Amino acid sequence: MNTDKENSLLNNKIVYDITKFTHLDYPNHLACVIWFKGCNMRCDYCYNKDIVFAKDANFSLHDVLDFLKQRVNLLDGVVLSGGEATDYDLVELCKEIKQLGFKIKLDTNGTNFKNIQLLCKSKLIDFIALDYKAPAYKHKEITKSNKFNVFSITLQYLIESSIDFEVRTTVHADLLNEEDINYIIKDLKSRGYTKKYYLQKFLDTQNNIGDITSASNSFDDSLLLDDIEVVWR
Ligand code: SF4
Repeated sequence: MNTDKENSLLNNKIVYDITKFTHLDYPNHLACVIWFKGCNMRCDYCYNKDIVFAKDANFSLHDVLDFLKQRVNLLDGVVLSGGEATDYDLVELCKEIKQLGFKIKLDTNGTNFKNIQLLCKSKLIDFIALDYKAPAYKHKEITKSNKFNVFSITLQYLIESSIDFEVRTTVHADLLNEEDINYIIKDLKSRGYTKKYYLQKFLDTQNNIGDITSASNSFDDSLLLDDIEVVWR
């Protein structure tokens, strides 16, 4: 039975939307996506503008759990995304999701280290996709936040942990060039990251936070270092 505090957390309307089915967002899983409202960054290329700036949300965590109860045996994974899901205390939600038998993937910008650490230590997360937004010298310019240091702590923690995770970067060639990506590659290598490093192309949705369009600069893959395996999505 949940305590009053746990119930009030679960009653909060903090979920902007639910994607009921996806086979793209959680590798090798049939999953749904829970989109948490709000974010502590303002990345120029972000196409989830409506979610980031949403004042109100449509679903409580109880609503999410009611939905998931109807998806037992139909889905096997739940993706926690946003916005920035770790702006919220996700422990009780994740416990309930695990009890229903789902695996949990977390998409995060890595800036709420304590929440992420708690979820990992409590063995409530099965997979993390961590955004490495930009090298330290461009992180503020691209995210409009001052959070590289805490991101860096999260990255190091995950590298040293046994958590299954991946690092990924969105590339808009006017914002990040080959030198910037090489800087990230060298940083990952020096920290002991041995997994694949994913690059994803900027999606020109014409509804992004910075009102930016396709890059005018080109991006030459052949200039990238091969210190770690780089994979485009
Ligand atoms: S792309 Fe940036 S602004 Fe958009 S949800 Fe992710 S961290 Fe937040």
